[in-house]
Amino acid sequence: MNHPSRRQIVSAGAFAAALGLCKSLSYVGPAWGQKTPDPPRGFYTYKVGAIQVFALYDGIWEKPHDPGFIKNASIEETQTALNNAGLPTEFVSIPLTVVVLKVGSTWVMVDSGSGGGQWQPTAGRLAANMRAAGIDPHKISIILISHFHPDHIFGLMEKGSNAPVFPQAELVVSATEYKWWTETGRVEKLPEARKALGQRINAAFPGWKNFTLVDHEREVAPGIRLIDAPGHTAGHSVFHVSSGHHQLMISNDTAYVPALLGPHPEWQGVYDQDGPLAVTTRRKLIDRVIAEKMMICGAHFPFPGLGSFVKDGSGYAFTAATPVTDKKPGLRPYPG
Ligand SMILES: [Zn+2]
Repeated sequence: MNHPSRRQIVSAGAFAAALGLCKSLSYVGPAWGQKTPDPPRGFYTYKVGAIQVFALYDGIWEKPHDPGFIKNASIEETQTALNNAGLPTEFVSIPLTVVVLKVGSTWVMVDSGSGGGQWQPTAGRLAANMRAAGIDPHKISIILISHFHPDHIFGLMEKGSNAPVFPQAELVVSATEYKWWTETGRVEKLPEARKALGQRINAAFPGWKNFTLVDHEREVAPGIRLIDAPGHTAGHSVFHVSSGHHQLMISNDTAYVPALLGPHPEWQGVYDQDGPLAVTTRRKLIDRVIAEKMMICGAHFPFPGLGSFVKDGSGYAFTAATPVTDKKPGLRPYPG
């Protein structure tokens, strides 16, 4: 089954993931004012054992520098880390990738993207890239939700009306996360910058009947286990995928932008609700991924959002899995 234009994605570790070919390319022009070029493809697909994973590009936020962004690092230190990773230093590159998994005949999505630019105007490509990948959003029957930040849940809500975009799907989320955001008096207690988000969550979610709240870590879809990873938010969750002897950790926002938090896992971002707990969770998760030689993907990792970590001094070195052209089918270790 050699195919001359088959593309593969490969990375370090015992596990290497093969990207399948899709000939239908979608062209989306660069968003207004965006400096970062669009990736050559808006989606990739790879296998974890028998489970097929689609990595779908939603876009990028070129976040202006802000001295409050990392509580225990200066802008200069942030820029140094970006530079060391080969990223632009004029802003922080925060790409957004959404993962969809085909488990047997079941379609499972992890989070929902930012809802056609409702988070940032430069991140609204998910629907187009889903179409290009041949995924029918109406067939998604399970959506695993990592946490209730805008870039992860705004895709669940229509702009303006908050009407459910996926009424047919079971929405699985940690009970801690759901209850934290919807408890009486929460909106008043939120910092000013989060009040609008809290109001929107409370205007929409309590009226929906398709939430499944998960009290304890457990399997939430065939081969996929919800694991508590608190700190970024109270009920932030990650999803462990296993099939045969292959494993993938869908880490969501635990390692956030690995160019920053790989070498500096101790950095506490303004985006982490509980900074010290987020650091503990980050180290624990990455240590497990390394010990078990897993691949890891993250919502804000460089697209297509997949890679691996190794220990490096007191931090970690991240290697992004990069698509390469390979005429041979199957898997090979990175860099091959
Ligand atoms: Zn996020």
